[in-house]
Amino acid sequence: MNDKRRRTRRSVVKGLGALALSASAGCTSTAALVSTPARPRAYSRKPWAAPNVSMDAVIRVVVGHRPFRPNGFRVERERLDDKTIVHNYGHGGGGLSLGWGSSGLAVREVGDLTPGAAAVIGSGIMGLCTARLLQDAGWSVTIYTRDVYRHTTSNVAAGEWGPFSTHDKSQVDAAFLARLDWAARVSHHAYTSLTGPRYGIRWLEGYVLNDKPFADSRRSSFDDLFAYRAYLEPGEHPFGNRYARRSVTMQIDPGTLLRQLTDDVYSAGGKFVIRNFETLDDVLALPEPVVFNCTGLGAAALFGDRDLVAAKGQLVFLPPDPAVDYLTLGGGRGLLYMFPRSDVLLLGGTFRYDDNSRNAEVAETERIVEEHRRLFASFGGPTDVD
Ligand SMILES: Cc1cc2nc3c(=O)[nH]c(=O)nc-3n(C[C@H](O)[C@H](O)[C@H](O)COP(=O)(O)OP(=O)(O)OC[C@H]3O[C@@H](n4cnc5c(N)ncnc54)[C@H](O)[C@@H]3O)c2cc1C
Repeated sequence: MNDKRRRTRRSVVKGLGALALSASAGCTSTAALVSTPARPRAYSRKPWAAPNVSMDAVIRVVVGHRPFRPNGFRVERERLDDKTIVHNYGHGGGGLSLGWGSSGLAVREVGDLTPGAAAVIGSGIMGLCTARLLQDAGWSVTIYTRDVYRHTTSNVAAGEWGPFSTHDKSQVDAAFLARLDWAARVSHHAYTSLTGPRYGIRWLEGYVLNDKPFADSRRSSFDDLFAYRAYLEPGEHPFGNRYARRSVTMQIDPGTLLRQLTDDVYSAGGKFVIRNFETLDDVLALPEPVVFNCTGLGAAALFGDRDLVAAKGQLVFLPPDPAVDYLTLGGGRGLLYMFPRSDVLLLGGTFRYDDNSRNAEVAETERIVEEHRRLFASFGGPTDVD
């Protein structure tokens, strides 16, 4: 772009930014600028708004560990002593998205049994979805769990509906991919009927950002679940001189969803027992003949699964900004994402394979904040603007 065009574009951006600020005066939004992309918004009818990102806006940093299995999640029935055990764990970075579908696969495993008393171990997304599906099928459910939902990995999930980072491509076969596809579709279908504030789910535009044109036009077999898919050139969006892959998906506020599912389990007659299982013998001593193992990363120790590893993730929370109605992935150095949840404006992230450490790393917090600050400072203009 020549200097004159760049100046013109910047002054238009500036002018519209001022308009946006005056239009939003009186509301609590920290939105800063409005851009002049050549293409209209896909889904939202509001102007683009950039979040105000800085270190002094940080309210909290959280760390969680994705239950990652390179060979994919485990949903499988086995007989141990006089118990029927159904495993449902190991969903990596996509467990929140896969909750209903994977639990559907798990509950199908007992389709030949007469409904009676069932134990579910774990009250993260898998335990709660499994419990609800069992109840709907006529089972009487007790959830045994070391942690209430607030302290689970599920409550640390960022919250994009997108069952990705679930496996290592080189370690899965076609049968696994077919099950993943089925679980993704069933889960998506279930979540689409729970949208709204009660379950903390809403539709949102998402933009994957890249410095080069995207090489692959297909991400997964369930690409069609993402609406308004398009590839955008620099200038067609406000994210500087990058390429963007656009789609519309669901944003889930995990705390709201898990709290509501917990209430739903209670309302359908379910019971909760706080209990930490140290050994497999403790599990086999339960009174229920059928036990669902929804222990996430806990399955490594409890059931001796050596394939299961922790993938550490770090998230940075800022105060929520209701004016920001799109999410971004990428746009700078390292793994980056911005999700405008109703409870927080969330910035991620990290994916550290086989890292069980629980400390938040200051250098990562600074990288995540600084890279997003640069991304949104360049909103509507070239990425070299600071
Ligand atoms: C930073 C980060 C970001 C993420 N972002 C997303 C996202 O945007 N979208 C998405 O789909 N997924 C995301 N995920 C992944 C998602 O959070 C996990 O895949 C999902 O939460 C796994 O759910 P779960 O129910 O299997 O396990 P958990 O939520 O870990 O629940 C396990 C349950 O088992 C119980 N338990 C474990 N061991 C024992 C024991 N010995 N005795 C008794 N109880 C036990 C625990 O107390 C807990 O209740 C993210 C994860 C992280 C860490």
